[in-house]
Amino acid sequence: MSKNKVGDSGSTQDKKNLNRRNFIKRSAAIGVGTAAFGTASTGPTQAQAMTWDYEADIVVLGAGATGLPAAIRARDLGASVIVVEQNFDIGGTMIHSNGNVSLGGGDAIQLRDLAGKNDPEGLITVAPVERPEAMQDDPDLLFRDQTDWTVVNTGAKAMYRYNNREVLRAWADNVAPVRQFLLDNYVKFTRISGTHGAIDAALAINEGSQPPHFLPGPIWAIFDQAAVDRAQWNVKPPYTGDNGLFFKADTIEELAAAIRAGNEHQKVALTYLKETVARWNSFVAKGADPDFERGPDAPMHAIATPPFYAARIIIEWHDSCGGLRINGKAQVLDMKGQVIPGLYAGGEATGAHLMHGLGKCCTHGYMAASNAVDERA
Ligand SMILES: Cc1cc2nc3c(=O)[nH]c(=O)nc-3n(C[C@H](O)[C@H](O)[C@H](O)COP(=O)(O)OP(=O)(O)OC[C@H]3O[C@@H](n4cnc5c(N)ncnc54)[C@H](O)[C@@H]3O)c2cc1C
Repeated sequence: MSKNKVGDSGSTQDKKNLNRRNFIKRSAAIGVGTAAFGTASTGPTQAQAMTWDYEADIVVLGAGATGLPAAIRARDLGASVIVVEQNFDIGGTMIHSNGNVSLGGGDAIQLRDLAGKNDPEGLITVAPVERPEAMQDDPDLLFRDQTDWTVVNTGAKAMYRYNNREVLRAWADNVAPVRQFLLDNYVKFTRISGTHGAIDAALAINEGSQPPHFLPGPIWAIFDQAAVDRAQWNVKPPYTGDNGLFFKADTIEELAAAIRAGNEHQKVALTYLKETVARWNSFVAKGADPDFERGPDAPMHAIATPPFYAARIIIEWHDSCGGLRINGKAQVLDMKGQVIPGLYAGGEATGAHLMHGLGKCCTHGYMAASNAVDERA
Protein backbone atom coordinates (compact mmCIF):
# COMPACT_ATOMS: atom_id res chain seq x y z
CA MET A 1 0.00 0.00 0.00
CA SER A 2 1.41 3.42 -0.82
CA LYS A 3 1.69 5.78 2.06
CA ASN A 4 0.10 9.18 2.17
CA LYS A 5 2.51 11.91 3.07
CA VAL A 6 1.05 14.43 5.47
CA GLY A 7 1.61 18.16 5.57
CA ASP A 8 4.13 18.87 2.85
CA SER A 9 2.68 22.22 1.92
CA GLY A 10 5.09 25.11 2.02
CA SER A 11 2.78 27.22 4.13
CA THR A 12 4.52 26.81 7.48
CA GLN A 13 6.13 29.71 9.23
CA ASP A 14 9.65 29.57 10.61
CA LYS A 15 10.42 26.61 8.36
CA LYS A 16 13.74 24.99 9.00
CA ASN A 17 15.89 22.96 6.69
CA LEU A 18 15.02 19.50 7.87
CA ASN A 19 16.63 16.50 6.35
CA ARG A 20 13.25 14.99 5.56
CA ARG A 21 14.51 11.52 4.73
CA ASN A 22 16.38 11.14 8.01
CA PHE A 23 13.57 12.78 9.86
CA ILE A 24 10.99 10.31 8.68
CA LYS A 25 13.30 7.38 9.27
CA ARG A 26 13.45 8.41 12.90
CA SER A 27 10.03 9.91 13.31
CA ALA A 28 8.81 10.90 16.74
CA ALA A 29 5.63 10.32 18.67
CA ILE A 30 4.35 12.72 21.27
CA GLY A 31 1.98 10.89 23.56
CA VAL A 32 -0.42 13.19 25.29
CA GLY A 33 -3.51 11.10 25.76
CA THR A 34 -3.64 7.86 27.64
CA ALA A 35 -1.77 5.96 24.95
CA ALA A 36 1.56 6.63 23.36
CA PHE A 37 3.75 4.79 20.90
CA GLY A 38 7.15 5.21 19.39
CA THR A 39 8.90 3.66 16.48
CA ALA A 40 11.78 2.58 18.69
CA SER A 41 9.62 0.30 20.76
CA THR A 42 8.72 -1.78 17.73
CA GLY A 43 11.02 -4.70 17.02
CA PRO A 44 12.06 -5.58 13.46
CA THR A 45 9.65 -8.51 13.13
CA GLN A 46 6.68 -6.50 14.35
CA ALA A 47 7.68 -3.54 12.18
CA GLN A 48 7.72 -5.71 9.06
CA ALA A 49 4.28 -7.07 9.86
CA MET A 50 2.76 -3.60 10.09
CA THR A 51 1.21 -1.72 7.23
CA TRP A 52 1.33 2.04 7.50
CA ASP A 53 -1.26 4.14 5.70
CA TYR A 54 0.23 7.52 6.49
CA GLU A 55 3.60 8.85 7.41
CA ALA A 56 4.68 12.07 9.06
CA ASP A 57 7.64 13.48 10.93
CA ILE A 58 5.70 13.81 14.15
CA VAL A 59 2.65 11.87 15.33
CA VAL A 60 0.76 13.53 18.17
CA LEU A 61 -1.60 11.37 20.20
CA GLY A 62 -4.38 13.40 21.78
CA ALA A 63 -5.47 16.88 20.70
CA GLY A 64 -5.69 18.47 24.14
CA ALA A 65 -3.82 21.14 26.07
CA THR A 66 -0.51 19.38 25.39
CA GLY A 67 -1.13 17.88 21.99
CA LEU A 68 -2.47 20.92 20.16
CA PRO A 69 0.43 23.23 21.05
CA ALA A 70 2.82 20.36 20.24
CA ALA A 71 1.28 19.87 16.82
CA ILE A 72 1.26 23.59 16.01
CA ARG A 73 4.81 24.06 17.27
CA ALA A 74 6.09 21.10 15.25
CA ARG A 75 4.33 22.41 12.16
CA ASP A 76 5.74 25.90 12.75
CA LEU A 77 9.19 24.32 12.77
CA GLY A 78 8.59 22.72 9.40
CA ALA A 79 7.74 19.17 10.41
CA SER A 80 4.81 17.27 8.96
CA VAL A 81 2.35 16.27 11.66
CA ILE A 82 -0.44 13.78 12.19
CA VAL A 83 -2.72 14.33 15.19
CA VAL A 84 -4.68 11.29 16.39
CA GLU A 85 -7.67 12.09 18.57
CA GLN A 86 -10.20 9.61 19.91
CA ASN A 87 -12.87 12.20 20.65
CA PHE A 88 -15.30 13.70 18.13
CA ASP A 89 -13.95 17.14 18.95
CA ILE A 90 -10.52 18.52 19.74
CA GLY A 91 -9.42 20.29 22.90
CA GLY A 92 -9.52 17.49 25.49
CA THR A 93 -10.08 18.50 29.09
CA MET A 94 -9.09 22.01 28.13
CA ILE A 95 -12.43 22.79 26.50
CA HIS A 96 -14.31 22.36 29.74
CA SER A 97 -11.63 23.78 32.00
CA ASN A 98 -12.09 27.17 33.56
CA GLY A 99 -9.51 28.59 31.17
CA ASN A 100 -7.19 29.95 33.84
CA VAL A 101 -3.66 29.71 32.47
CA SER A 102 -0.72 29.79 34.87
CA LEU A 103 2.32 30.95 32.95
CA GLY A 104 4.67 33.78 33.98
CA GLY A 105 8.44 34.04 34.19
CA GLY A 106 8.43 37.56 32.72
CA ASP A 107 6.19 36.75 29.81
CA ALA A 108 4.69 39.12 27.28
CA ILE A 109 1.44 39.67 29.16
CA GLN A 110 3.23 40.39 32.43
CA LEU A 111 5.46 42.87 30.61
CA ARG A 112 2.39 44.42 28.98
CA ASP A 113 0.63 44.92 32.29
CA LEU A 114 3.81 46.03 34.03
CA ALA A 115 4.28 48.70 31.38
CA GLY A 116 0.76 49.91 32.17
CA LYS A 117 -0.41 49.12 28.64
CA ASN A 118 -3.06 46.90 30.09
CA ASP A 119 -5.54 45.36 27.71
CA PRO A 120 -5.54 46.85 24.22
CA GLU A 121 -8.37 44.60 23.08
CA GLY A 122 -10.68 45.52 25.95
CA LEU A 123 -11.07 41.92 27.12
CA ILE A 124 -10.58 42.63 30.81
CA THR A 125 -13.80 42.45 32.72
CA VAL A 126 -12.57 41.88 36.27
CA ALA A 127 -10.61 43.98 38.72
CA PRO A 128 -6.89 43.24 39.17
CA VAL A 129 -6.09 40.94 42.06
CA GLU A 130 -2.37 41.69 42.14
CA ARG A 131 -0.39 44.88 42.47
CA PRO A 132 1.79 45.74 39.43
CA GLU A 133 4.94 44.91 41.46
CA ALA A 134 3.81 41.28 41.52
CA MET A 135 4.40 41.20 37.79
CA GLN A 136 8.16 41.41 38.36
CA ASP A 137 9.03 37.91 37.35
CA ASP A 138 11.65 35.83 35.61
CA PRO A 139 12.34 32.12 34.94
CA ASP A 140 14.49 31.76 38.07
CA LEU A 141 11.73 33.16 40.27
CA LEU A 142 9.19 30.94 38.58
CA PHE A 143 11.39 27.88 39.09
CA ARG A 144 11.90 28.81 42.74
CA ASP A 145 8.19 29.35 43.13
CA GLN A 146 7.61 25.75 42.06
CA THR A 147 10.47 24.02 43.84
CA ASP A 148 11.44 25.92 46.99
CA TRP A 149 9.49 24.51 49.88
CA THR A 150 10.47 27.41 52.11
CA VAL A 151 8.38 29.80 50.01
CA VAL A 152 5.03 29.92 51.70
CA ASN A 153 1.91 31.95 51.25
CA THR A 154 0.22 34.05 53.91
CA GLY A 155 -1.48 30.89 55.19
CA ALA A 156 2.01 29.36 55.71
CA LYS A 157 1.35 26.83 52.99
CA ALA A 158 3.85 25.94 50.28
CA MET A 159 1.43 25.73 47.37
CA TYR A 160 2.31 23.92 44.17
CA ARG A 161 5.77 22.78 45.23
CA TYR A 162 7.39 19.84 43.47
CA ASN A 163 10.68 17.95 43.51
CA ASN A 164 10.96 17.14 39.84
CA ARG A 165 13.57 19.83 39.33
CA GLU A 166 14.87 18.94 35.88
CA VAL A 167 11.44 19.04 34.29
CA LEU A 168 10.44 22.16 36.20
CA ARG A 169 13.64 23.98 35.27
CA ALA A 170 12.99 23.27 31.60
CA TRP A 171 9.36 24.27 32.09
CA ALA A 172 10.27 27.60 33.75
CA ASP A 173 12.69 28.40 30.92
CA ASN A 174 10.02 27.74 28.30
CA VAL A 175 7.04 29.47 29.88
CA ALA A 176 7.63 32.98 28.51
CA PRO A 177 8.24 31.70 24.95
CA VAL A 178 5.04 29.67 25.26
CA ARG A 179 3.02 32.74 26.18
CA GLN A 180 4.35 34.43 23.06
CA PHE A 181 3.65 31.28 21.04
CA LEU A 182 0.04 31.26 22.26
CA LEU A 183 -0.36 34.95 21.48
CA ASP A 184 1.10 34.36 18.03
CA ASN A 185 -1.51 31.66 17.58
CA TYR A 186 -4.41 33.96 18.40
CA VAL A 187 -5.06 32.93 22.01
CA LYS A 188 -6.56 35.89 23.84
CA PHE A 189 -5.79 36.61 27.47
CA THR A 190 -7.66 38.89 29.78
CA ARG A 191 -6.65 39.59 33.38
CA ILE A 192 -3.28 38.70 34.75
CA SER A 193 -3.03 37.95 38.43
CA GLY A 194 0.62 37.47 39.28
CA THR A 195 3.39 34.95 39.11
CA HIS A 196 1.34 31.97 39.96
CA GLY A 197 -2.06 33.38 39.45
CA ALA A 198 -4.78 32.88 36.94
CA ILE A 199 -5.70 34.45 33.68
CA ASP A 200 -9.00 34.04 31.94
CA ALA A 201 -8.15 32.77 28.52
CA ALA A 202 -10.68 32.63 25.77
CA LEU A 203 -9.57 29.36 24.21
CA ALA A 204 -11.92 29.21 21.28
CA ILE A 205 -9.93 26.33 19.93
CA ASN A 206 -12.56 24.64 17.84
CA GLU A 207 -12.88 26.91 14.90
CA GLY A 208 -16.27 25.62 13.90
CA SER A 209 -17.73 26.06 17.36
CA GLN A 210 -20.25 28.73 18.10
CA PRO A 211 -21.50 29.69 21.54
CA PRO A 212 -22.57 27.85 23.58
CA HIS A 213 -20.34 25.00 22.36
CA PHE A 214 -17.07 26.25 23.76
CA LEU A 215 -16.48 26.86 27.44
CA PRO A 216 -19.79 25.30 28.47
CA GLY A 217 -18.93 25.85 32.13
CA PRO A 218 -20.64 24.07 35.00
CA ILE A 219 -23.20 21.32 34.57
CA TRP A 220 -26.63 22.03 36.05
CA ALA A 221 -29.39 19.67 37.10
CA ILE A 222 -32.60 21.48 36.20
CA PHE A 223 -35.78 20.29 37.91
CA ASP A 224 -39.15 21.54 39.08
CA GLN A 225 -41.31 21.44 42.17
CA ALA A 226 -42.99 18.25 40.92
CA ALA A 227 -39.58 16.52 40.99
CA VAL A 228 -38.94 17.79 44.51
CA ASP A 229 -42.30 16.43 45.66
CA ARG A 230 -41.85 13.16 43.79
CA ALA A 231 -38.42 12.46 45.24
CA GLN A 232 -39.15 14.10 48.59
CA TRP A 233 -36.00 16.16 48.39
CA ASN A 234 -35.39 18.71 51.09
CA VAL A 235 -34.28 21.80 49.21
CA LYS A 236 -34.30 24.13 52.21
CA PRO A 237 -31.22 25.38 54.07
CA PRO A 238 -28.92 23.96 55.33
CA TYR A 239 -29.31 21.31 52.61
CA THR A 240 -29.06 24.06 50.04
CA GLY A 241 -27.50 27.46 50.40
CA ASP A 242 -26.98 30.82 48.83
CA ASN A 243 -23.54 29.78 47.63
CA GLY A 244 -23.76 29.99 43.87
CA LEU A 245 -24.41 26.26 43.54
CA PHE A 246 -28.19 26.18 43.96
CA PHE A 247 -30.88 28.41 42.46
CA LYS A 248 -34.65 28.68 42.51
CA ALA A 249 -36.91 30.79 40.28
CA ASP A 250 -40.50 31.02 39.09
CA THR A 251 -39.66 30.72 35.40
CA ILE A 252 -36.93 28.99 33.40
CA GLU A 253 -35.76 32.36 32.04
CA GLU A 254 -35.41 33.74 35.56
CA LEU A 255 -33.58 30.58 36.59
CA ALA A 256 -31.11 31.01 33.71
CA ALA A 257 -30.53 34.62 34.68
CA ALA A 258 -30.02 33.68 38.34
CA ILE A 259 -27.41 31.05 37.46
CA ARG A 260 -25.59 33.43 35.15
CA ALA A 261 -25.50 36.14 37.79
CA GLY A 262 -24.83 33.93 40.77
CA ASN A 263 -22.22 31.42 39.67
CA GLU A 264 -18.74 32.76 38.97
CA HIS A 265 -17.91 29.94 36.56
CA GLN A 266 -21.02 30.36 34.42
CA LYS A 267 -19.34 32.46 31.76
CA VAL A 268 -21.70 31.57 28.95
CA ALA A 269 -25.22 33.01 29.06
CA LEU A 270 -27.81 30.25 29.32
CA THR A 271 -29.77 31.50 26.36
CA TYR A 272 -30.67 27.97 25.27
CA LEU A 273 -32.02 26.73 28.59
CA LYS A 274 -35.65 27.56 27.87
CA GLU A 275 -35.43 25.92 24.46
CA THR A 276 -33.70 22.84 25.97
CA VAL A 277 -36.35 22.41 28.65
CA ALA A 278 -39.13 22.82 26.06
CA ARG A 279 -37.44 20.20 23.87
CA TRP A 280 -37.20 17.81 26.81
CA ASN A 281 -40.86 18.39 27.67
CA SER A 282 -41.83 17.60 24.06
CA PHE A 283 -39.94 14.30 24.35
CA VAL A 284 -41.80 13.53 27.57
CA ALA A 285 -45.09 14.20 25.80
CA LYS A 286 -44.10 11.79 23.00
CA GLY A 287 -42.67 9.21 25.43
CA ALA A 288 -39.36 8.98 23.55
CA ASP A 289 -36.01 10.71 23.92
CA PRO A 290 -34.18 10.59 20.58
CA ASP A 291 -31.30 12.70 21.95
CA PHE A 292 -30.22 10.17 24.60
CA GLU A 293 -32.24 7.11 23.60
CA ARG A 294 -33.62 6.47 27.05
CA GLY A 295 -34.97 3.07 27.85
CA PRO A 296 -37.86 2.13 30.11
CA ASP A 297 -35.48 2.08 33.10
CA ALA A 298 -35.18 5.87 32.88
CA PRO A 299 -38.60 7.37 33.53
CA MET A 300 -39.34 10.73 31.94
CA HIS A 301 -41.10 13.60 33.69
CA ALA A 302 -41.89 17.06 32.37
CA ILE A 303 -40.15 20.06 33.90
CA ALA A 304 -43.20 22.26 34.05
CA THR A 305 -44.31 22.90 37.63
CA PRO A 306 -42.91 26.10 39.20
CA PRO A 307 -40.82 26.94 41.05
CA PHE A 308 -37.86 25.67 39.07
CA TYR A 309 -34.51 24.68 40.54
CA ALA A 310 -30.91 24.40 39.38
CA ALA A 311 -28.30 22.42 41.32
CA ARG A 312 -24.72 22.30 40.17
CA ILE A 313 -23.49 18.81 39.40
CA ILE A 314 -19.79 18.68 39.97
CA ILE A 315 -18.11 16.01 37.90
CA GLU A 316 -14.43 16.66 37.77
CA TRP A 317 -11.56 14.41 36.89
CA HIS A 318 -9.06 16.88 38.11
CA ASP A 319 -5.33 16.35 38.09
CA SER A 320 -3.37 13.27 37.30
CA CYS A 321 -0.69 12.21 39.77
CA GLY A 322 0.81 9.35 37.81
CA GLY A 323 2.00 8.71 34.31
CA LEU A 324 5.01 8.49 32.07
CA ARG A 325 8.31 9.70 33.46
CA ILE A 326 9.91 12.42 31.34
CA ASN A 327 13.14 14.38 31.43
CA GLY A 328 13.72 18.10 30.81
CA LYS A 329 13.34 17.54 27.08
CA ALA A 330 9.96 15.86 27.55
CA GLN A 331 11.50 12.58 26.41
CA VAL A 332 9.91 9.53 27.96
CA LEU A 333 12.20 7.48 30.20
CA ASP A 334 12.00 3.75 30.66
CA MET A 335 11.95 1.92 33.99
CA LYS A 336 15.74 2.25 34.19
CA GLY A 337 15.67 5.98 33.55
CA GLN A 338 16.92 5.61 29.97
CA VAL A 339 15.48 7.74 27.17
CA ILE A 340 13.11 5.87 24.86
CA PRO A 341 14.18 7.24 21.48
CA GLY A 342 11.50 9.01 19.52
CA LEU A 343 8.93 9.09 22.28
CA TYR A 344 7.90 12.30 24.01
CA ALA A 345 5.12 13.05 26.46
CA GLY A 346 3.62 15.91 28.41
CA GLY A 347 0.65 17.06 30.40
CA GLU A 348 -1.49 14.73 32.44
CA ALA A 349 -0.10 11.69 30.64
CA THR A 350 3.13 12.32 32.55
CA GLY A 351 3.83 11.66 36.19
CA ALA A 352 6.31 12.31 38.96
CA HIS A 353 4.27 15.10 40.45
CA LEU A 354 0.76 16.40 40.50
CA MET A 355 0.34 17.28 36.88
CA HIS A 356 -2.17 19.98 36.49
CA GLY A 357 -3.01 22.85 34.36
CA LEU A 358 -3.04 24.47 30.99
CA GLY A 359 0.18 26.38 31.61
CA LYS A 360 2.13 23.19 32.32
CA CYS A 361 0.47 21.20 29.56
CA CYS A 362 0.89 23.82 26.83
CA THR A 363 4.52 24.26 27.81
CA HIS A 364 5.17 20.52 27.81
CA GLY A 365 3.67 20.25 24.35
CA TYR A 366 5.80 23.13 23.13
CA MET A 367 8.93 21.61 24.70
CA ALA A 368 8.21 18.14 23.34
CA ALA A 369 7.67 19.39 19.80
CA SER A 370 10.67 21.73 19.87
CA ASN A 371 12.95 18.95 21.07
CA ALA A 372 11.46 16.29 18.83
CA VAL A 373 11.99 18.44 15.75
CA ASP A 374 15.40 19.60 16.89
CA GLU A 375 16.73 16.21 17.85
CA ARG A 376 15.33 14.31 14.91
CA ALA A 377 16.31 16.75 12.16
C1 LIG B 1 -13.37 20.90 35.32
C2 LIG B 1 -11.92 21.23 35.10
C3 LIG B 1 -11.53 22.54 35.21
C4 LIG B 1 -10.19 22.86 35.00
N1 LIG B 1 -9.81 24.18 35.08
C5 LIG B 1 -8.53 24.50 34.84
C6 LIG B 1 -8.12 25.87 34.85
O1 LIG B 1 -8.90 26.79 35.01
N2 LIG B 1 -6.82 26.13 34.63
C7 LIG B 1 -5.90 25.16 34.40
O2 LIG B 1 -4.73 25.48 34.19
N3 LIG B 1 -6.26 23.86 34.35
C8 LIG B 1 -7.55 23.51 34.57
N4 LIG B 1 -7.92 22.20 34.52
C9 LIG B 1 -6.91 21.20 34.21
C10 LIG B 1 -6.55 21.23 32.71
O3 LIG B 1 -7.72 21.36 31.93
C11 LIG B 1 -5.82 19.93 32.37
O4 LIG B 1 -4.70 19.82 33.23
C12 LIG B 1 -5.33 19.92 30.94
O5 LIG B 1 -6.35 20.24 30.02
C13 LIG B 1 -4.79 18.54 30.61
O6 LIG B 1 -4.21 18.60 29.36
P1 LIG B 1 -3.69 17.27 28.68
O7 LIG B 1 -3.12 17.63 27.36
O8 LIG B 1 -2.80 16.54 29.62
O9 LIG B 1 -4.99 16.40 28.54
P2 LIG B 1 -6.30 16.75 27.67
O10 LIG B 1 -6.40 18.21 27.39
O11 LIG B 1 -7.42 16.10 28.34
O12 LIG B 1 -5.96 16.02 26.32
C14 LIG B 1 -5.86 14.60 26.18
C15 LIG B 1 -6.45 14.25 24.83
O13 LIG B 1 -6.09 12.91 24.51
C16 LIG B 1 -7.22 12.29 23.93
N5 LIG B 1 -7.03 10.85 24.07
C17 LIG B 1 -7.10 10.11 25.19
N6 LIG B 1 -6.85 8.83 24.88
C18 LIG B 1 -6.60 8.76 23.57
C19 LIG B 1 -6.27 7.72 22.68
N7 LIG B 1 -6.14 6.47 23.09
N8 LIG B 1 -6.10 8.01 21.36
C20 LIG B 1 -6.23 9.28 20.93
N9 LIG B 1 -6.53 10.32 21.73
C21 LIG B 1 -6.71 10.06 23.03
C22 LIG B 1 -8.37 12.85 24.72
O14 LIG B 1 -9.60 12.68 24.06
C23 LIG B 1 -7.97 14.32 24.84
O15 LIG B 1 -8.40 15.08 23.73
C24 LIG B 1 -9.24 21.84 34.72
C25 LIG B 1 -9.65 20.52 34.61
C26 LIG B 1 -10.98 20.21 34.82
C27 LIG B 1 -11.41 18.78 34.69
